[in-house]
Amino acid sequence: MEILTSINPATDETVETFAVHTPADVQRLIDGARRSFAHWKSLPLMRRTDLLRSAAKTLRDGKQKYARIMTIEMGKPITEALAEVDKCALLCDYYAENAERFLQTEIRPSAPFRHSSVRFDPLGIVLAVMPWNFPFWQVFRAAVPALAAGNVMLLKHSSNVSRCALEIEEIFRMAGFPDGVFGTLLLPASRLESVMPEVQAVTLTGSEAAGRSLAALAGRFLKPAVLELGGSDPYIVLADADVRVAAENAVRARCVNSGQSCIAAKRFIVHEKIYDSFLDLFRAGMQALKIGDPLRSETEIGPLARKDLREELHGLVEDAGANGARIVLGGGPLFEKGAYYAPTIIDALQPAMQLYHEEAFGPVAAVLPFSEDEEAVRLANDSRFGLGASIWAGDTERAMAMAPFIEAGSVFINATVRSDPALPFGGIKDSGYGRELSLEGIRSFVNVKTVRLL
Ligand code: NAP
Repeated sequence: MEILTSINPATDETVETFAVHTPADVQRLIDGARRSFAHWKSLPLMRRTDLLRSAAKTLRDGKQKYARIMTIEMGKPITEALAEVDKCALLCDYYAENAERFLQTEIRPSAPFRHSSVRFDPLGIVLAVMPWNFPFWQVFRAAVPALAAGNVMLLKHSSNVSRCALEIEEIFRMAGFPDGVFGTLLLPASRLESVMPEVQAVTLTGSEAAGRSLAALAGRFLKPAVLELGGSDPYIVLADADVRVAAENAVRARCVNSGQSCIAAKRFIVHEKIYDSFLDLFRAGMQALKIGDPLRSETEIGPLARKDLREELHGLVEDAGANGARIVLGGGPLFEKGAYYAPTIIDALQPAMQLYHEEAFGPVAAVLPFSEDEEAVRLANDSRFGLGASIWAGDTERAMAMAPFIEAGSVFINATVRSDPALPFGGIKDSGYGRELSLEGIRSFVNVKTVRLL
């Protein structure tokens, strides 16, 4: 029997195993989703948004339990896991509040027709292929707008967080969602090919490699897709920035979720005039982080989610070292047990290093100097990724003037990049395509239907 295994990355212990769904199980779930779509889409929108409010309450009531499940399965510091549950609840509230406005039929008068309008009708079953790094948030971010619009969803979560997947399914059930509106497929990625013809759309959050593979499959079956992939976000510090504030925020921006966030800042592009003082402050901040048991509330950095991911990260650091980088801090695994990695700073990142081009998914920061604003923009854009970017500046007008030239899905000035239900989120270039959240997110999985009466 094929199984999926959840291993606690802080202790290396197997937490739980799950039998992979058989082809018959998968067909049963698909049939159930299809049946439930017919009913779900015909409910008044208010009924669906009421259920979202109920999901928010279920999340808040079970916050401690859900946070603990996440931390045990993938190692996230517990304070961040608790905040993640809150953010999911907030997202449910946001769409409960705004879905009606976003889905309102638009009247667009156009002669000689007596009536011309645009409707936003649901598509059907949306397949969500999701990553382990924000195991609740990523799923809710995909599910809540899709369900509000009248779609149903089948989730294929990362193979290392099956308990999170089943718990999310249970949250929707407890909140009162009808059976089949949200279901979990316990499957390895290799089995998705058989599911694709049965769904109407697909959304994937994950690595670039997974995105390429799933997009090819979606293309073969002509399914619309949203891809939220990796990032190597630049963090530009201009000469007139408050260096202390920029360095303090740099630590948080790099180390959120123990460094495993698509929108974590990864390349720190710092004006040469303040380079040394920034590096000193940044190093002190990274060094002071409390590393250890992610279940303890004071822990700021837990283990990485898996040991193979730690190997990959360490490979990038070793390659940078071999190609002339100065490792200012850290540089290797920590502790006997668990997938811990030391907060690491690499000085003077160069194109010859893999780290210049690849996404470092862990607490590894690369710092590089610049002298003119144009050079900072050139360095920021010298990446195949284009997810987020932040600029730190005293003269905020100057920073605002740089924003149009940055190749990224979002630019934050004097703030770290973060997602917000009220604003669209997504990337360009190899960071993917399509948008989640806000109006754009709910419109990603609808049939934009023109209706005219002569
Ligand atoms: P991953 O290995 O790509 O896995 C993500 C999901 O894709 C999992 O469910 C995985 O299933 C599945 N998958 C893997 N290979 C696949 C394939 N060939 N075809 C179809 N599905 C496939 O990524 P991860 O390690 O979980 O997550 C980290 C990555 O996600 C990073 O690159 C990060 O930047 C990105 N990310 C992006 C965003 C964003 O919003 N842009 C947010 C969070 C994370 P299995 O587990 O069964 O392999």
